[in-house]
Amino acid sequence: MKVGEKNIRGYLVDLDGVLYVDRTPVPGAANVVQRWVDGHIPRFYLTNTTTKSRASIEKKLREMALPIAAEEILTAPEAAKSYLMAKGSPVCNFVLNSEVLADFADFRQSDTAADAVLIGDIGNAWTYDLLNRVFRLVSGGAELIALHRNKFWETEAGLQMDIGAFVAGLEYVTGKSATVIGKPSPAIFAVALARLGLHPHYVAMIGDDIETDIGAAQAQKMAGILVRTGKYRESHVRASGITPDLVLDSVADLPPESLA
Ligand SMILES: [Mg+2]
Repeated sequence: MKVGEKNIRGYLVDLDGVLYVDRTPVPGAANVVQRWVDGHIPRFYLTNTTTKSRASIEKKLREMALPIAAEEILTAPEAAKSYLMAKGSPVCNFVLNSEVLADFADFRQSDTAADAVLIGDIGNAWTYDLLNRVFRLVSGGAELIALHRNKFWETEAGLQMDIGAFVAGLEYVTGKSATVIGKPSPAIFAVALARLGLHPHYVAMIGDDIETDIGAAQAQKMAGILVRTGKYRESHVRASGITPDLVLDSVADLPPESLA
């Protein structure tokens, strides 16, 4: 498929807001995914979700009749795993919820002498003692790694503070910068591109977030295809100063040559 000057041979696809919104599939999305399967089109699905294992995401996709296998999904925790393995599997300290922690069982772990601390979402389990543990480890030389550094998110009870504040606080007290893994960080895109086996010039990222998906992909020399579903708001696009390479009403509007 031609996008501007680029010949696109493979796709990175955001999940939430592109293929489904909450628990409802985007109309026509399952058909697009099935045609990618049938046409052997290189693709990888990217999500910043840090509270679910790959298996539980796969189950959710199956319930919505989206034909995507667990191996085709790259989550921020999965990208973190690749990042840690590339570092020679250091001794780690994990600040992760139990479901995600299960995916890291193969790593050596220590609360007192770790080479890396990985922070994800643990809800209201944050305590002063836990922050102090991370502070001591990072002050002692451990790398501070965060699955993301979001500021807040919307819940039924209103806005809720996200882990970005803890990451920023730990940076402040240790004088060190965190390595961030999830979108829009280059780390997750690097892992995804390596698995696709394609040069970024031949890859398009399809997403509903103008900054995290489109701007971040363009910064890595990929094309950015914005869909007007999910969190898409025209005002956000205007305010961002980012120009997508292509804008579609929905993933279902991808031209036929992108599917075979
Ligand atoms: Mg999204």
